[in-house]
Amino acid sequence: MPHAFANTVASFKTASGKSGKYYSLPRLAERFPNVNQLPVSIRLVLESVLRNCDGKRVTAEHVEQLANWQPNAPRNEEIPFVVARVVLQDFTGVPLLADLAAMRNVAQAQGKNPKTIEPLVPVDLVVDHSVMIDHFGDKQALDLNMKLEFERNRERYEFMKWGMQAFDTFGVVPPGFGIVHQVNLEYLARGVHKTDNKTGGGAGTVYYPDTLVGTDSHTTMINGIGVVGWGVGGIEAEAGMLGQPVYFLTPDVVGFEFTGKLREGVTATDLVLTVTEILRREKVVGKFVEFFGEGTSSLALPDRATIGNMAPEYGATMGFFPVDEKTIEYFKGTGRTKDEIEAFEAYFKAQKMFGAPRAGQVDYTKVVTLDLGTVAPSLAGPKRPQDRIELGNVKNKFTSLFSEPPTANGFNLPAATLHTRHVVSAKDVPAGATPPDQPNNAPGAPRQVVEMSANHPTLEAAQSEAKSTQPKVGDLSLGNGDVLIAAITSCTNTSNPSVLLAAGLLAKKAVEAGLKVAPHIKTSLAPGSRIVTEYLEKAGLLPYLEKLGFAVAAYGCTTCIGNAGDLRPEFNEAITKNDLVCAAVLSGNRNFEARIHPNIKANFLASPPLVVAYAIAGTVLKDLMTEPVGKGKGGRDIYLGDIWPSSDEIYALMKYAMNGKAFKENYDKVAKEPGKLWNDIKGVKGQVYDWPKSTYIAEPPFFENFTMQPAALELGVKGARAMALFGDSITTDHISPAGSIKESSPAGIWLKEHNVLKADFNSYGSRRGNHDVMMRGTFANVRIKNLMIPAAPDGSREEGGVTLFQPTGQKMFIYDAAMRYIAERTPTIVFGGEEYGTGSSRDWAAKGTQLLGIKAVVAKSFERIHRSNLVGMGVLPLQFKPGDSWESIGIQGDEEFDIELGSDIRPQQEATLVIRKHGTSQRVPLILRIDTPIEVDYYKHGGILPFVLRQLLAA
Ligand code: SF4
Repeated sequence: MPHAFANTVASFKTASGKSGKYYSLPRLAERFPNVNQLPVSIRLVLESVLRNCDGKRVTAEHVEQLANWQPNAPRNEEIPFVVARVVLQDFTGVPLLADLAAMRNVAQAQGKNPKTIEPLVPVDLVVDHSVMIDHFGDKQALDLNMKLEFERNRERYEFMKWGMQAFDTFGVVPPGFGIVHQVNLEYLARGVHKTDNKTGGGAGTVYYPDTLVGTDSHTTMINGIGVVGWGVGGIEAEAGMLGQPVYFLTPDVVGFEFTGKLREGVTATDLVLTVTEILRREKVVGKFVEFFGEGTSSLALPDRATIGNMAPEYGATMGFFPVDEKTIEYFKGTGRTKDEIEAFEAYFKAQKMFGAPRAGQVDYTKVVTLDLGTVAPSLAGPKRPQDRIELGNVKNKFTSLFSEPPTANGFNLPAATLHTRHVVSAKDVPAGATPPDQPNNAPGAPRQVVEMSANHPTLEAAQSEAKSTQPKVGDLSLGNGDVLIAAITSCTNTSNPSVLLAAGLLAKKAVEAGLKVAPHIKTSLAPGSRIVTEYLEKAGLLPYLEKLGFAVAAYGCTTCIGNAGDLRPEFNEAITKNDLVCAAVLSGNRNFEARIHPNIKANFLASPPLVVAYAIAGTVLKDLMTEPVGKGKGGRDIYLGDIWPSSDEIYALMKYAMNGKAFKENYDKVAKEPGKLWNDIKGVKGQVYDWPKSTYIAEPPFFENFTMQPAALELGVKGARAMALFGDSITTDHISPAGSIKESSPAGIWLKEHNVLKADFNSYGSRRGNHDVMMRGTFANVRIKNLMIPAAPDGSREEGGVTLFQPTGQKMFIYDAAMRYIAERTPTIVFGGEEYGTGSSRDWAAKGTQLLGIKAVVAKSFERIHRSNLVGMGVLPLQFKPGDSWESIGIQGDEEFDIELGSDIRPQQEATLVIRKHGTSQRVPLILRIDTPIEVDYYKHGGILPFVLRQLLAA
């Protein structure tokens, strides 16, 4: 069938005179003049729709609809977006590989060739989420942590090696190279792609822009180099790699105009925290944000990537920067080839998409403006990334939040105890001096002795202590606001040389001034690529960071994903026994409760140099704008201004960071020298996986009893019970935790029953390839509050994954209740508040919900990815009408419920919640949040995975 828009194919020429064909948007604009006014991000999506127009998955109507996009119009139409490639991080990538492997089992069982199941677009998995900070503070830490990582994850890595040989288009960047988004930015993104003759829509070989989806919400970092892409659940990514378009509702596009320039001393981290705060207010959920204007052109590419990275924190689908000269400079500085760069530049110029639009050139739904000159040094926290605090206000803010109620994001503790300190006697370690500028010596600070056992409280603690290189400390005291974790981590910042060099320069000045970091603070440097170490070394800064404890401890996500490793057992005990609010300061993008460490309640996001500064200060109860950071040589007070680097000093060292040859040599090693530890991993061979017994990898149950025709659908839900009543902002971390596994939790109990020692539990994230662990971990976050459990007399709420099993009202783990409800064939419903499922994209938040027998989630609003993942797993998302909530309706949790959908399912149709109690019933209107026609199909098939599998096997 001829391509409906074959006449839009045109040719472009590179600087070297090479030519290539492409689907020309300027030619399409001859028929649809509106195209010239479209936001650049929409034009890039339009290119995909145009090129992939095959009359089946993508039709001429789809092209026309998007070509006629209007800045303000009802958004009912879905866009079928075929992406150029898919990226995965290892936590989400492994379950996806497990699903693909399970599909091959089904294909084989159905008498089909297992190779029918094969990714149709390139897939790259970067192993970045598995390394933990067990060792820190010296040069051995990196090797020791990697050895432990390989010991803990051997079974997962063997499975990945099976995937590499079984699937033709599945590549792995092994552990120790970096963080997925930084590796994507520096290496995987190659500019423009070209088709072969078969996929050129009949036009022969054609060039097309890079687009992607990734199984991590911060995939948007790639928006910084003009690539359209965002995070999707593993379930959608799987469908995308198997040839399904990614469907999404036509978005609004908010234009964000930067004017002016950043002031001296202000970092990209400060800027991104400011942008996050502004856009959070603008409510950009489900929208594209596109940056434009002269200020945008002044931003270096790593700064743009930092801003793109935090799109999930401001709630947008993307934070997009158009391609311009700075993008080309970045490509040159990071080792892309001359041919790649020339094709990239020529393509975007031919499409008239080169350069950030100026004000008025493009029609945006709304325009927001920020004068870069108004941005001030900031942190964000202590519980949410959008809560920005100017540096000079951190002490006051922490002080007031200490005694404010949880509804105001406070810690609800008596103000009189703020400065109480607790002596921690580490009797089993050599005595050392309490660090001189620790606030425990403050005159008048009340003291309270905590009796510590000479022995470690758990075997696991003893083991980790024995293995650890943690510096030994003697008696010291702990108090509220003490910094216990200081981590330079996360793709958000470690991809940005300006802030890393600033951290190094600050460390140099601090060391020279005689400042120190107290040895009990867990300090770490976990860059997102090896390039960082190389330029810090060449710039002569690494030794100073090491001297302050910021030795390279890993190349991976570490503290950002909750892999900070544990604190000393005596610290954990002192914190829990005395209800202390201790702090972590990290250069990450997420600080939700219990993400960083279960016992650290105040988590501040800050630029890398501020992380170093707070490590030196040792407390967030010091105002770094007016009080000394610490005492230097001769007892001299040293202020932040004495050690803060100037932009000229940073700029002078940038030459070490942008070295194309160094980038190329580093990434050549991915294939040629991945390292002995990886080489020693033995992968299973064969096209079909045989699922050896493992507590890490197990055949997922999603295709059990698979038939080529879906079972008849029962519309709605009848006779359901409430599994939980949640407040606002329940995150995917609450629903499916990624950190450590508690011994007493259902997952911990199951692991022990399977002879796994506590020391070998590893994290939830690393066990995502095993549904038995993950379903037990669902709703098992230690901080989740099921408001079905009545409040304590003091108004506080019980934390942890428990519920009241109905109708008896017996309290038990949510997992245990779920199994009883399933055995009784009683469906269940979860009730939530605003932004249900916010946070990292996490397919297990939806998969676990389905496996617990939960048929519907009814909330005030949903986060984008989690909502679509629920549909993708066959769980109904439903939304209260404005003004309604489970609280306003008076739901207690002991009622019986029906959900009525009428005679068929239509996107966003009206639905009714029927509530029955004591012989009375109440009817509440709801909106079904199955948003698009394709989602109706997914739901009718029992989810996206059976839907795609039926299509593939029928072909
Ligand atoms: S945001 Fe944190 S956990 Fe996610 S990829 Fe980046 S470093 Fe890793």
